[in-house]
Amino acid sequence: MLSENSIPVLDHGFVALDGVLASDLAVVNGARVSFNQASDELGERDAGLIRFLMREGHGSPFEHGYFRFIVKAPLFVVREHHRHRAGHSYNEWSGRYSKMEPEFYVPEYVRTQVGKPGAYSFERVDDVTRESTRSEIEENATRAFQAYERMLEQGVAKEVARAVLPLSTYTKYYWSCNPRSLMHFCSLRNHEAAQYEIQQYAAAAESFLERAMPITHEAFVERGRIAP
Ligand SMILES: Cc1cc2nc3c(=O)[nH]c(=O)nc-3n(C[C@H](O)[C@H](O)[C@H](O)COP(=O)(O)OP(=O)(O)OC[C@H]3O[C@@H](n4cnc5c(N)ncnc54)[C@H](O)[C@@H]3O)c2cc1C
Repeated sequence: MLSENSIPVLDHGFVALDGVLASDLAVVNGARVSFNQASDELGERDAGLIRFLMREGHGSPFEHGYFRFIVKAPLFVVREHHRHRAGHSYNEWSGRYSKMEPEFYVPEYVRTQVGKPGAYSFERVDDVTRESTRSEIEENATRAFQAYERMLEQGVAKEVARAVLPLSTYTKYYWSCNPRSLMHFCSLRNHEAAQYEIQQYAAAAESFLERAMPITHEAFVERGRIAP
């Protein structure tokens, strides 16, 4: 599944761009239709127009685009991701209908958590703690999957047996969104306040935004990474 449109994330995950219909020109034309005008290509003044729209919070011209991704991520990342509702669509692999695969996230970046909500700071743990944490997570996940298989062999329904699987289990889903909703997602999740793991997914998705809409992306960054 890996290609130039697929970015590996964490140990077994990825963000793959499955389809895109998005451009800076569509933003410009979305705004210019107000004056019954349209362009076939970007002109010299168009970057200024995009920056103006971004700066002034004229958000709707940034909705005339479409990104369709396939994402493979641990369940706890998916749970955070799917909180993003406005302008996002999701369809996920169902653990009711097909057997989950024994693929689990084992973090490389094991850290401490100090401080209070909204102001945590994180530091890498020492090597011994890191390795024992990784072993705990891996051994626990392996045992959980063995229990899952045993239940399936006894004829227990997949929708029941999956209750034993950990949050580190990988799943896959389709994710579609427009450029405005993607920017809002990136502003919250490709941000140091977000959990490290979802940051990696958001950074991958943001690189596809930057590739398809470089001027829009630059204006987003200039505006302090706040979506219009
Ligand atoms: C660092 C961080 C920590 C978090 N911690 C927690 C937590 O502890 N517990 C928890 O439950 N969630 C938590 N969240 C999730 C957070 O509360 C949001 O649900 C998530 O970030 C999606 O943001 P959103 O609602 O702006 O996005 P979207 O759902 O995509 O919505 C985009 C925008 O549309 C508008 N909108 C969407 N739906 C409505 C609505 N129903 N009514 C009015 N306006 C709407 C809002 O302006 C919103 O900003 C956390 C998020 C982050 C980034």
